[in-house]
Amino acid sequence: MWVFLNDRFVRREDALVSVFDHGFLYGDGVYETIRSYGRRIFMRDQHLARLRRSADAIGLEIPIPDSSWTDLLHEAMRRNEVGNDRVDAYLRITISRGEGEIGLDPQLCKRPTVVIMAKELRPSPAVLIQTGVSLTIAQTKRNLPEALSPHIKATNFLNNILAKRESIAAGTFDSLLLNWRNELTECTVSNLFFVSQGRVRTPALDCGILDGITRSVVLTLAQEGGLPVEEGRYLVEDLLQAEECFVTNTSMEIMPVTRVDSSVLGTGLPGPLTRRLQSLFVANRDRFLEPDR
Ligand code: PLP
Repeated sequence: MWVFLNDRFVRREDALVSVFDHGFLYGDGVYETIRSYGRRIFMRDQHLARLRRSADAIGLEIPIPDSSWTDLLHEAMRRNEVGNDRVDAYLRITISRGEGEIGLDPQLCKRPTVVIMAKELRPSPAVLIQTGVSLTIAQTKRNLPEALSPHIKATNFLNNILAKRESIAAGTFDSLLLNWRNELTECTVSNLFFVSQGRVRTPALDCGILDGITRSVVLTLAQEGGLPVEEGRYLVEDLLQAEECFVTNTSMEIMPVTRVDSSVLGTGLPGPLTRRLQSLFVANRDRFLEPDR
């Protein structure tokens, strides 16, 4: 595997970062997870814009000009022989505050550390898409936006990891986190949707969630497809009475959810609106890809 580190591509075994890097010491950094379909990157500009927003929010200056990112991502895919006719690519950009003396002051770090990784994207197992997955309602609450905004895609991921530990202990696919008002927010790496009374509902951004890029695509497709959509504030009871549920992210796309804790949702199988949105996603996907190069 070839990894881009700061200013060049190096072999995986040479892709080493200092123990004084504030990303390692304090989780001080931001990241993006991106994917390709064949050669073409999904929602490339939106991912790069979110990376910039995250960096701005923590006062981190990205040391790579905007105009270089596309070439770097494609070079990462080419070198790793992914993002081609045979395999889709999973891309991860990480930017940490960089190496500096111990201490919280970001000015201790002279230059951010930039990493790009590219590997094969393995699609979700078909059986999960056919049967749907289960969620645990986590005891761990989603970060308070005024404490650490979930809009920032930060490398400080302990909030999500603590919730993930709960789902691992419960033997479920993932955890769903509630916010400080006990409203539904999102899962550890995905956004939540559910269907009740024929409406597609998803927690509003101000519930304290990441502004998911797949979430925005699904909202667009639902609206274009004439499905009633509502962004709002919802409680666990609303979800437990739902007819359908699914979660979204860049690599999973749309994953049906059929069980929450010990409750079976709807018929216990992925529902018709979930299926409809999955079909719309596949049929319209090209519109959301960068132009072929
Ligand atoms: N919510 C969280 C906490 C995430 O980490 C992610 C993606 O990694 C998402 C939602 C989904 O975002 P996207 O659709 O942009 O991949």
